Amino acid sequence: MAGTKQALESLKEVGYRLTPQRMLVLSAIQEGGHLSAEEVYGRVKEEYAFIDIATVYRTLALLKRLRLVTETELGDGPARYELSTEPHHHLVCRGCGETTPLNDDLFAPLRLTLRERLGFEAELEHLPVFGICSRCGAQGRRAERRRAGVATERAGTAQ
Ligand SMILES: [Zn+2]
Ligand SMILES: [Zn+2]
Repeated sequence: MAGTKQALESLKEVGYRLTPQRMLVLSAIQEGGHLSAEEVYGRVKEEYAFIDIATVYRTLALLKRLRLVTETELGDGPARYELSTEPHHHLVCRGCGETTPLNDDLFAPLRLTLRERLGFEAELEHLPVFGICSRCGAQGRRAERRRAGVATERAGTAQ
């Protein structure tokens, strides 16, 4: 629970009260990871029946503004929330939808370059990188060869 504790401390530092709603939302995200707002609501509700989803949305927006949680699309519908204390990223395959976690080290040079060349402080805590995984890529190439093969046969019979 180190991540949650750290986030709660930061919340207190910037002058926000540690309401039960805020604590529960943070600990739900810490435990679940990559939860949608609806899922956060479901978990918080188990502990604290009085919460409504509007409060969950408001709390998530506040935590996001304070950069204590990150919001990311992983290509499968609603935005997902994560604590900012453990920056990482994801490869997301457009073919099969598989996601692969990526270490933040990879993005450190990009962050640095943007800062040095453009004076831009990039918020790169939790990025989805969309593309085609090696498995889907190989399948795509096989399918292309098949199509190419069929095309040549047809060309042959037409002659
Ligand atoms: Zn993630
Ligand atoms: Zn794939």
